[in-house]
Amino acid sequence: MNRTELSQLGEFGLIEKIKNEAFQNNKTTLKGIGDDAAVIDKNDKEAFLVTTDMLIEGVHFDLTYAPLKHLGYKAVAVNVSDIAAMNGIPQQITVSVALSNRFSLEAVDELYKGIRLACENFKVDLVGGDTVSSRSGLIISITAIGTAHKQEISYRNGAKKDDIICVTGDLGAAYIGLQILEREKQAYLADPNMQPELGGKEYIVERQLKPEARMDVIHELRELKVIPTAMIDVSDGLASEIMHICKQSAVGAELLEENLPIDNLTYETAREFNLDPLTCLLNGGEDYELLFTIRPEDMSKIKNHPDITRIGRVMDKNYGVNIITKAGNTFPVKAQGWVAF
Ligand code: ADP
Ligand code: MG
Repeated sequence: MNRTELSQLGEFGLIEKIKNEAFQNNKTTLKGIGDDAAVIDKNDKEAFLVTTDMLIEGVHFDLTYAPLKHLGYKAVAVNVSDIAAMNGIPQQITVSVALSNRFSLEAVDELYKGIRLACENFKVDLVGGDTVSSRSGLIISITAIGTAHKQEISYRNGAKKDDIICVTGDLGAAYIGLQILEREKQAYLADPNMQPELGGKEYIVERQLKPEARMDVIHELRELKVIPTAMIDVSDGLASEIMHICKQSAVGAELLEENLPIDNLTYETAREFNLDPLTCLLNGGEDYELLFTIRPEDMSKIKNHPDITRIGRVMDKNYGVNIITKAGNTFPVKAQGWVAF
């Protein structure tokens, strides 16, 4: 028997294989594996959206610094973000937890406080889940269900040449926030009497611990009557996400470094850590902002939006995916993403 290491395929290679071998029996499955959420027929006009994400202690979070309330909030937000990335409205979630006897009722209460707060903010209902025991760490798995008008769904594969590439908010902060938390953890392990030094870094630490799903932007785009031609949320990093859009849409892209939105504090803190801010911005991940493309004629509708930045344009496929640096050099964008295995 041959043995193939999962690291040979990587996360995306493995998903691609599962996707290619999946078989669809039902006409109601409008879109299966491969986008931010699956699309399921509801009626003539509308579809259901379904997405699921799992967070594992020691892999996706560290309870030494992630407060349980924030963790509950984040677990909901990352799912809502995938519904937003389809241009949909989330409505229900189910929450499954695996708990060890390390957790008390008070700890579970804290986790659910965060889940309830997110439900309130994103206007979703907790409608079910599962509770099991775990031998080691905490696992939280959430499924979100939403709805969208079929005509208004933004898939990853709809970008067309000359479309404008936009992103919400700023990028790279969540990754730098994680570097700060890791640094403080090491300092704490060396000297348990120390107090964490987060002075002035609250914004980027919060971006890591308690990200928001950009439902605000989804509602605003709807009011402005702008339907993104393609959309994805930034969970793995801008580089990885733009590659997904370009691959699925069979197009290329040109990004302008000088337009990429980075917060000043993120920039300065990256330098403190001797990290290249551009690399953090492109490959950091976990920002949960929205990356989308719009028709050029829609640009005038959003150009004054304070939280949407135009970062480039969609090109022919044979152009590839390139970034023009501030110095005027062109280099190809490489999707680093996360090494999952
Ligand atoms: P996202 O980052 O938006 O959550 P992922 O990269 O996790 O998306 O997944 C990409 C696509 O692959 C999604 O459609 C997801 O539902 C699907 N997918 C991921 N893992 C599996 C799996 N083990 N089995 C079937 N589909 C999967
Ligand atoms: Mg996503």
